[in-house]
Amino acid sequence: MSLIKEKDKKYIANTFNRYNVEFLRGKGAFLYGKDGKEYIDMVAGVAVSLLGYNDESINAAIIKQTARYTHLSNWFYSDAQVNLAEMLVKLNGWGKVFYVNSGAEATEVAIKIARKWGMLHKKGAFEIISMKNSFHGRTINALSATGQEKFHKYLNPKAPGYKHAVFNDIKDIEKLVTSKTAAVLIEPVQCEGGVHVAEKKYMKALAALCRRKNILLIADEIQTGLGRTGKFFAYMHYGIRPDIVVAAKGLGGGLPLSCVIGGEKALSVYSVGDHGTTMGGNPVACAAGLAAIKKVSSPKMMKEISKKGGYLAGRLACLHSDRVKEVRGLGLIVGVEFDTDIGAEVTKKSLERGLIINCPKPNVIRLVPPLVINKNQMDRAVLILKKVLDGIN
Ligand SMILES: *Cc1c(COP(=O)(O)O)cnc(C)c1O
Repeated sequence: MSLIKEKDKKYIANTFNRYNVEFLRGKGAFLYGKDGKEYIDMVAGVAVSLLGYNDESINAAIIKQTARYTHLSNWFYSDAQVNLAEMLVKLNGWGKVFYVNSGAEATEVAIKIARKWGMLHKKGAFEIISMKNSFHGRTINALSATGQEKFHKYLNPKAPGYKHAVFNDIKDIEKLVTSKTAAVLIEPVQCEGGVHVAEKKYMKALAALCRRKNILLIADEIQTGLGRTGKFFAYMHYGIRPDIVVAAKGLGGGLPLSCVIGGEKALSVYSVGDHGTTMGGNPVACAAGLAAIKKVSSPKMMKEISKKGGYLAGRLACLHSDRVKEVRGLGLIVGVEFDTDIGAEVTKKSLERGLIINCPKPNVIRLVPPLVINKNQMDRAVLILKKVLDGIN
């Protein structure tokens, strides 16, 4: 066993199943292993590294900000925070930004806003309806909102006030709505849930239902946001407007940063002291995020993302493997469903051949590559997958 593996085992809590590979550095879509091999990362460090590894503009922004200060308390104005917020609000078209540090934390903030809004404007409505098979993060409330039993096993008693509706089924959610419903929380694409895309008709009906019943609509865009689906936020594909958008993952250009973007209706209830954070909106993370988002948000880049996503999905569908049941996704979120539970085996064997993918469900693999991925790199990934699939009986 190598020294790092020994020390990891000895000093780090055993909550992650680590793969048997050590990386020395990265560049673009590639990671370079201690074993001398080149690995193509088709999950971008779980949808974080929008521009891939070691991007020069992000590095320069980090160095520039670091030379000024790496942290200021939130008692003081921060130009890095303001510059990123301005960009986000312009790209979103509405709202104001509240920064925190992680996806789960931002989800909590969105829920807190909804609860206060319900208290003040809807006679104490507090219930949050989220979707079955959803994923919203690992804190107790975010997990209670998460609609997957496997996460609730040791959570008891679960945080109260959460209900789960069948995704893409408007009749089911209609049955769950009561006068106590404060908000609906939904991912436009369920990524951790195995890559399921919300249908257009459904999202429109859901937005209309929320309007009719005076319910806040919260879009969890932690994985779908920041251009990944070919629009800056995935909700924009549906011609709807949520009241709150939650963003994280790539928001800090690879550094920890998340935010809630709230419209007037929701955020008007939030005032000084309602939420606080020591590290949220860290200036280095904001500067890095701005550099990343400047690049990905150009109209040309956004168009390319749609095209690349279509190309990747098309190539995967053309594998014509008996094992592939369905290829689905939106933009550069692509899921491949197999006929049986071979996802973990495919993931492991792909890694051995220099391809990093991920398996959110036993029969599904997920590809969320860096947004700067090119055709050659996608071809290479698909070829490796083909070889892997050919080798599995
Ligand atoms: C990753 C993710 C989260 C959790 O984010 P963390 O930063 O790990 O807390 C929540 N919701 C969605 C949709 C995600 O993809």
